Amino acid sequence: MIDLHLHTTFSDGTFTPTELVKTAAAGFSAISVTDHDTVAGVPEALEAKAALGTELMVIPGVELSCEYLDREVHILGYGVDVKNQTLLDVLQELENERIERIHLTVDKLTRFGLPLKFEDLPITGLPGRAHVARAMVAKGYAVSVSDAFSRYLNPEKPGYVARNKLLPKDAVELIHQAGGVAVLAHPALVKMELTDSLLKDVPVDGIEVFHSAHLPEQTLEYEKFALSRGLIITGGSDCHGPKGKDSLLMGTIDLPEHYFKQLLRAMDGIA
Ligand code: AMP
Ligand code: ZN
Ligand code: FE
Ligand code: FE
Repeated sequence: MIDLHLHTTFSDGTFTPTELVKTAAAGFSAISVTDHDTVAGVPEALEAKAALGTELMVIPGVELSCEYLDREVHILGYGVDVKNQTLLDVLQELENERIERIHLTVDKLTRFGLPLKFEDLPITGLPGRAHVARAMVAKGYAVSVSDAFSRYLNPEKPGYVARNKLLPKDAVELIHQAGGVAVLAHPALVKMELTDSLLKDVPVDGIEVFHSAHLPEQTLEYEKFALSRGLIITGGSDCHGPKGKDSLLMGTIDLPEHYFKQLLRAMDGIA
């Protein structure tokens, strides 16, 4: 199996990179660590792979949060050089903005009548709204993480704080100069039609066609679009760790091998 969209404790996932690699080594041939706005979890994943002596391929990745026409657009970067200084400088700025934003989020919710402290959030790496959501569930302010998002943390809700985000075209350029391949993540979640004019402003090399939130008909539509334009096709579960008792998104998406090989060729071409 091949899963190229996975989060760890370095952003808002709950598996450490070591746990992720150990879990994947059992049934996967390739994975990618794609944390939000950071590549800091990649070295641990590569060390865990080496320590296990597994054949599993571990692709360095990142998922950059961008904004386009008031919508959140995520751009995946595959095969980036995790020591690229320009990339690291931008990621440091994004980290600082995330810390500031989550402080403001906690203050806003506290003023709204739902007291929270930044220090009490279950943050292990770069902070995100998911950490606030988990703390809200623990405090009994929400019944689930998705309930916390829909009532308090999504745009226009009482705990929402806007953030300066990258423009998609700047994110693509950042990934390219770090030797990576840029891919538009989960187009169904962007709620924007895939068109050639969108690609002018979001000039990615590929589309994440296979994703756990895509309906079968959406997967087919995106695959057709990508194939007709010669774009790279990727896929991943977007697993953030175990969900509830036994359920895990990892293992629900398997990128066909021939698409993965095209991505590897493109990574070679750019690096
Ligand atoms: P942030 O990057 O801090 O703006 O938080 C956005 C992230 O939170 C997304 O990329 C998802 O990983 C997660 N997220 C957003 N909405 C939900 C939801 N309804 N349920 C669970 N996780 C969510
Ligand atoms: Zn996330
Ligand atoms: Fe995403
Ligand atoms: Fe993701």
